[in-house]
Amino acid sequence: MSPNSSDDPLQTPVRFLRGIGPARSDLMARLGIATVTDLLWNLPRDVLDLTHISTVFELKEGVLSTVFGVVVDRDSRHTSTGKTMTAILLQADGGFVRGVYFNQPYMLRRFELGQRVLFSGKPKFIARRWEFSHPTVQWLGDEEIEEGGRVLPVYSLTEGLSQHEMRRLMKGVVEEYAELVPDPLPSGFRSRANVIELTSALRCVHLPASMDEYRAGMRRIVFDDLLEFQLALAMRRRFWRAENAAVPLQTSAKIDARIRRLFSFRLTPGQDRAIAEIVEDLGRPYAMHRLLQADVGAGKTAIAIYAMLVAVAAGVQAVIMAPTEVLAQQHWSTIDALLEGSRVERRLLIGGLTAAQRRATLEQISSGEAQLVVGTQAVIQDAVAFKKLGLAVIDEQHKFGVVQRSRFSSGETAPHVLVMTATPIPRSLCLTQYGDLDLTVISDLPPGRQRVVTSRVVGSGSARRAWDFIKQKLRDGRQAYVVCPRIEDNPTTASSADVYGSAEAIYRELSEREFREFRVGLVHGQLDRDERVRTMEMFRNGELDLLVATTVIEVGIDVPNATMMVIEQAERFGLSQLHQLRGRVGRGKVQGYCFLFSDSDSPEAAKRLAAMESTADGFKIAEADFELRGPGDVLGTRQSGSLPLRVADLNRDQALLDEARVAAFNLVESEEFDQLDMAPLKIRVLERFHRSMDLPQTG
Ligand code: ADP
Ligand code: MG
Repeated sequence: MSPNSSDDPLQTPVRFLRGIGPARSDLMARLGIATVTDLLWNLPRDVLDLTHISTVFELKEGVLSTVFGVVVDRDSRHTSTGKTMTAILLQADGGFVRGVYFNQPYMLRRFELGQRVLFSGKPKFIARRWEFSHPTVQWLGDEEIEEGGRVLPVYSLTEGLSQHEMRRLMKGVVEEYAELVPDPLPSGFRSRANVIELTSALRCVHLPASMDEYRAGMRRIVFDDLLEFQLALAMRRRFWRAENAAVPLQTSAKIDARIRRLFSFRLTPGQDRAIAEIVEDLGRPYAMHRLLQADVGAGKTAIAIYAMLVAVAAGVQAVIMAPTEVLAQQHWSTIDALLEGSRVERRLLIGGLTAAQRRATLEQISSGEAQLVVGTQAVIQDAVAFKKLGLAVIDEQHKFGVVQRSRFSSGETAPHVLVMTATPIPRSLCLTQYGDLDLTVISDLPPGRQRVVTSRVVGSGSARRAWDFIKQKLRDGRQAYVVCPRIEDNPTTASSADVYGSAEAIYRELSEREFREFRVGLVHGQLDRDERVRTMEMFRNGELDLLVATTVIEVGIDVPNATMMVIEQAERFGLSQLHQLRGRVGRGKVQGYCFLFSDSDSPEAAKRLAAMESTADGFKIAEADFELRGPGDVLGTRQSGSLPLRVADLNRDQALLDEARVAAFNLVESEEFDQLDMAPLKIRVLERFHRSMDLPQTG
């Protein structure tokens, strides 16, 4: 024992507790529990509500209820449709009830005759008996039946440790130590946030007298989890502002008019609002740190260009960084064409330059001669030193992974940073993963956009019709993409479906047969750079009718005349990715079409593809993706799935997240935060986050 831990009873090692000897303390160690504090925070993974158990007479068709019973029969058999059906018969209060499981034969082994269990679910009255289909089960020990009428916590266990022992142990620990746990929240703050004291919360969670008590306890504990995280974000934002003095960039009505004249279209109200927010940020003496979220095709590029030109007009340099060379090239073409006849000095910085070109470009960047730079990650390499960088735009941020926001090197002051993403991020995720950024969300699209007609294509007959339809449109002068999941044939896993999934095989197939009469191109990541650029350029200029591609075209590609897309083996892509891909078509005023080729018979794939058919709203799709596959996929490469939360669940706790966020951001801006009684809370936040979130150790 270290001298410190002997002073603090909460740090007492569990082996010194009554009822825990060396053997049990080894079991505890397996659960990651070493001290009294660990035990107190060993929260139940569930609760058993024994206060609301229905008798058989009280059951109602389709109404969620719980019955208690003893297993009296169990069997498993095959049905006429080839499924297995496992049936468990319970003797309950007032008669028999049955639980059935389809295609889960292992369920049979989980029930033994004479066992006492709870079934929860929505029963149906079938063949004169109440039946629960796939009920939720709680297996009860004897003592739980004796404790009937109560709410019991359910803990994670390890072999050799029973639920009953764990509960008894926890009861002893909570009764003796919970009152020693200091509450980091001052009482005034607590009552405004409508949360109970920490000591009572621990009691409510471990020893709940009712479900209401349990919920109140959990509310406090989840709130703290979210609050600490939001405080860290708010502190990081405050710190960022204090540390990142920036050159305020002023603009004027004249500059505004001059920039707007460049565009061939009128900006949408959403674009105008985003621009207004950005311009306001740019005028501040600390660096902007803003996330612009808008659905695919909303016109983020125009917003970025506007902001960069404001910066250039104010006498500083601006840079836009794209995740792929293809996209950087596209931005370059757009910007270069837009600025034709203007004096703005613009440069493209990508990996493919010759040594001499690169040297010259770097030289112009560091001398300040280059005013507007378009590039890939190449622009944040160490060799790139801007003379006076005022604004950095990061396009399609989700493709970059963790962005080191201060990687742009530039003299004394920090550049303003605008981050753009077309992957709509569910609100709750946004408030956490990107919670330290200011947020602009655009929800309108340029006028005249039509919803892309999307249909799943199954079987050779409908594939035939899809190809014929596309040929017809190509003859009318339209263009199409065919997107493939892989680049080349993979001889090691060469089932016929796999061979067909490769971009090279499909390119051969289509260009030599089906689309012989058309001009067909191929792009993927392993092609030579010049060839890739040339092919994209030809497609953009209408010199190719059909482009076979991998997901290199996923982000940002904008060819308004391309109105059709085929996605081969669509089930292999995630929802957000499909949405991005589909966003490549239907960008002009002409109706777009997306064909999702998929012969997969997986129900999960069917669900995803059906979601694509029925909704065009990227935000809804992102929510669906989040629910189906968790945060990792939605965020792409950014810290896949590892949210620094302990007990909160972003799906379940959305409302509480909003409360915690408001409370945290208000607190950080208020004088209350500087008072002495806030010190314990600050210390907790710093201990927990200063490393992962780069917070200064002094608050
Ligand atoms: P994204 O937000 O996906 O990056 P882009 O910036 O590539 O979208 O814009 C998509 C298309 O919409 C481009 O062809 C662009 O020229 C066009 N566009 C952008 N803003 C408008 C507008 N206000 N009115 C009409 N077309 C617009
Ligand atoms: Mg874009």
